[in-house]
Amino acid sequence: PGIQLPHDPTKKTLVILGSGWGATSLLNSLDTADYNVIVISPKNYFLFTPLLPSVAVGTLNPRSIIQPTRYVTRHKSRQVAVIEASATEVDPERKTVTFADTSEIQGLVSTTTVPYDYLVFAVGAEVQTFNIPGVRENACFMKELEDAEKMQRRFLDCLESAAFPGQSQAEINRLLHMVVVGGGPTGIELSGELHDFLEEDLKSWFPELANSVHITLVEALPSVLPSFSKQLIDYTESTFKAAKIDILTKTMVKEVREKSVILQKPDKSIVEVPCGLVVWAAGNKLRQVTRDLMDKLPEHQTNKRGITVDDCLRMVGTNGSIFAIGDCSATSYAPTAQVASQEGSYLARILGQIAKKDELELRLQTLQNQPETEESKTEIDSVAKRLVKLEKLRPFRYSHQGSLAYIGSDRAIADLPFFNGNLATGGVATYLFWRSAYISTLFSLRNRTLVATDWLKVKLFGRDVSRE
Ligand code: FAD
Ligand code: NAD
Repeated sequence: PGIQLPHDPTKKTLVILGSGWGATSLLNSLDTADYNVIVISPKNYFLFTPLLPSVAVGTLNPRSIIQPTRYVTRHKSRQVAVIEASATEVDPERKTVTFADTSEIQGLVSTTTVPYDYLVFAVGAEVQTFNIPGVRENACFMKELEDAEKMQRRFLDCLESAAFPGQSQAEINRLLHMVVVGGGPTGIELSGELHDFLEEDLKSWFPELANSVHITLVEALPSVLPSFSKQLIDYTESTFKAAKIDILTKTMVKEVREKSVILQKPDKSIVEVPCGLVVWAAGNKLRQVTRDLMDKLPEHQTNKRGITVDDCLRMVGTNGSIFAIGDCSATSYAPTAQVASQEGSYLARILGQIAKKDELELRLQTLQNQPETEESKTEIDSVAKRLVKLEKLRPFRYSHQGSLAYIGSDRAIADLPFFNGNLATGGVATYLFWRSAYISTLFSLRNRTLVATDWLKVKLFGRDVSRE
């Protein structure tokens, strides 16, 4: 009864967990005729994370940066099952995945288990709170689409509450103090976007409040953006200074309260700073489902950063039946969209090769089980030769295309590979490059059109300040 999963007994079953950068890039390039393909993800869409901070301040419409996974699968040569559910358990011994419908509405059946021949583990990571008190309860995150929408609602609420008649100046200052925690690229981009909103729209919508707005970026390390070159860190710091965004380095957030943050300053003293909004962009940690899977292979999986994979992205200890890509794996590369998407398209090629190999192995078995004839002997020889060629998988090689980040005030920074060195550049021209690079990276013409239209709408009419 109900929806049937793709089932061709001559093909192996490939289960893909996730619909993010790694999984979507894999799906884009995968020849689905090779497998019975099942995609399982709690989100039935792909989220273009680099533009998420733009959603948080209303520059982009949330729907402009997501693409339903079925838009990808419907053009595939063979049916792909897309299931909106969270994988809750992977059994590498029995080769099964158990998943559950964790959404608001559920039917009578909401959990089930499917067997797989190959599993692609691409579940990403989740927000790291370090169990710091009050973070989950009082701060906004910047990881999922709903985080950006929640931040936008809260941020506009702070503005409206500050505009409430009779509010004291001290309370206005508190409500309009925005604290961003984490000086990695997410925190920097978000602070830049917040500044743009305040500069470009707040001054016209709430002129009497504009001077009371204050953004503070808190970073525990001695500098922001440790992965960028020194010159670009300096450029970012001076751009933020000009934009009146305070950067507090060597400062740790110790607690997030409803109306304040508790900071530990470089001299180890503790201060309470009143604020209206805290955005937590302090990095990622592994998901529970990933840790549970690793715990099942304790002798092979000991890296705290993520799943250990070999050169061909096969999870060590699983005999090549599980592949791990993106933020859930521990490789020598940074956990970025660029890495995850290159791993996804690499895996599509590898899985194509494996499918051919599996098909030939089956053919060989069939031929060997038949009575031997001259013809079958010749075919056995030819199949065996072709199998040898398919045996060796080419290892994954990452090709770094550069690091880009938007820093607000119509400026971006870029560390680009240039001949054998690095070209570090920042400014308005880099910002135009940033825009064109991201618009061309968006997976579909539909998303490109929506994002370009949103940018144009903001230029013409400003950002929408209505609070949903
Ligand atoms: P994700 O893209 O996070 O996808 C994980 C998928 O798994 C999701 O679809 C999720 O719903 C699904 N999932 C979760 N739990 C389960 C489960 N239990 N079962 C099944 N599925 C599950 N990187 C760059 O290179 N450049 C950038 O400019 C950039 N900007 C960024 C901006 C922001 C605001 C953020 C948050 C990140 C940014 N990154 C950027 C990093 C980049 O987004 C990640 O490195 C990338 O998303 C990793 O891809 P992934 O496929 O591993 O995980
Ligand atoms: P991150 O891990 O890069 O940065 C988090 C920062 O928060 C760290 O510098 C850490 O020192 C700081 N921090 C942690 N706890 C703190 C505390 N209690 N108080 C103060 N500071 C604290 O996280 P991210 O910026 O979300 O980036 C995650 C990944 O996504 C990275 O690999 C990054 O390169 C990638 N990314 C790339 C881009 C881009 O290329 N434009 C944009 C966003 C994210």
